[in-house]
Amino acid sequence: MPSPESKTRKAKPSAKALPPPSPWSTYHRKRKLTHLICFLVFVTLPFLNVMRFDIPKQRFYFAGYELWISEFSIIFFSLMFLMFLIAGMAMLYGRLFCSYLCPQMIFSEASLAMEAWLQKWITRRFLSWPSGRRVWLFRIAFYVLVGLASVFLAFVFISYFVEPRDLFWRLMSLDLWTAGGISGAVVTLITFLDFAFVRQRFCVTACPYGYLQGMLTDGNTLLVHYRDEGKDCIECKKCVRVCHMGIDIRDSPYQIECVHCGECIDACVEILGKVGKPGLIHYVWGEKGELLGQKAPWHRRLGLRDAKRAVVILILLFYLSGLTVALSMRKPVLVQVAPVRTTMYQVTPDGRIANHFRIRLANRSSRPAAVTLSIEGLPGAVISPSQDPRRLEPGQELQQEFDVVVTKSRAASEVNHFKVVARVTPEQSPDEFPMTFLMPVERAP
Ligand code: SF4
Ligand code: SF4
Repeated sequence: MPSPESKTRKAKPSAKALPPPSPWSTYHRKRKLTHLICFLVFVTLPFLNVMRFDIPKQRFYFAGYELWISEFSIIFFSLMFLMFLIAGMAMLYGRLFCSYLCPQMIFSEASLAMEAWLQKWITRRFLSWPSGRRVWLFRIAFYVLVGLASVFLAFVFISYFVEPRDLFWRLMSLDLWTAGGISGAVVTLITFLDFAFVRQRFCVTACPYGYLQGMLTDGNTLLVHYRDEGKDCIECKKCVRVCHMGIDIRDSPYQIECVHCGECIDACVEILGKVGKPGLIHYVWGEKGELLGQKAPWHRRLGLRDAKRAVVILILLFYLSGLTVALSMRKPVLVQVAPVRTTMYQVTPDGRIANHFRIRLANRSSRPAAVTLSIEGLPGAVISPSQDPRRLEPGQELQQEFDVVVTKSRAASEVNHFKVVARVTPEQSPDEFPMTFLMPVERAP
């Protein structure tokens, strides 16, 4: 809390004013640039299949891979990696995610900026109109603009879950009857209400990340902190006026509303710079820690300041390596072979011995594929029916049963080990399945 004494303090006569900070060195500009990049990423991700969860097709698109829901290991590693990434970011860097990367914050601020710009423009352009009429015009224009933006944002958002071209045609045909059309209309309405009325209130009332942040913050987490040992605050309150979350950072660095955006830092630097003093609000590593950017070993400057953080980074690396290995081992065409042991073996009418097997194929690629089976390590064995090659269209799954048949031989034993080898075209390394062939053994009388 600022002391009562500081509240009444007047500006001391200026030393030489500091040169104004370059616009690109302010957190405001850095944040707006990050917002623009995030917006472009948000809009392009689903169209390039970088990350998309297609619910109707039950596919998870990740880094250009089309993953099937059955590919548990990859989905598991991706989700665990993302979960620890969010938790680790919250522990190390506080709410920087909220202020720099979160779409809710980006669009809320854009909506506020558009509202302010539109208000000014209408006042200037229709100066001669009575103020009541101007207010009505402003309201209608603002809601129309937010409505159009909501349709676009809802379209991008739903594209994360439904194929974008399919969605586009639904939108064009004003589909309000199917499940997809109804959810599109509901998301558009929620987006409109959010960005027209709720905006940053969501961050302090409903957002789970804000509450999670409260649990993960400790004495080493990055914070925005007001420090005024020299009693230099001139009570201009610019830091309060620029705060879009409506708080006074001088009260406490632990206010749940604070999203660590740094706008108050810029404001204070600008004001106190005019009287030749440095700003009083800073990014700091914990309430008692050093300032961001202050000289320190590299790992401390990155936020790796204790064993807990090192463990989180190690867990992140573990899931990232698991994900990389799972992706590198992934084959576009899945082949699984298993024995069917309802009977141990069968004797065919022509006296040969047959063992029964099942093959499961899934073409997870976007090209047609063909699978050819062969037997290794079991002399004279044939596959019946052969059906080679088994052809699969993109996305097709196939399950078949087949026999491995051999001529009865005195040399064979009761249990014979062999391999079923599956070769896939287009090129994929062969899949080998070690199997056993059971046969009756004729013992010498
Ligand atoms: S902007 Fe700086 S000087 Fe002005 S009230 Fe805030 S902390 Fe004090
Ligand atoms: S107090 Fe400062 S850092 Fe926190 S939300 Fe307000 S302007 Fe941003």
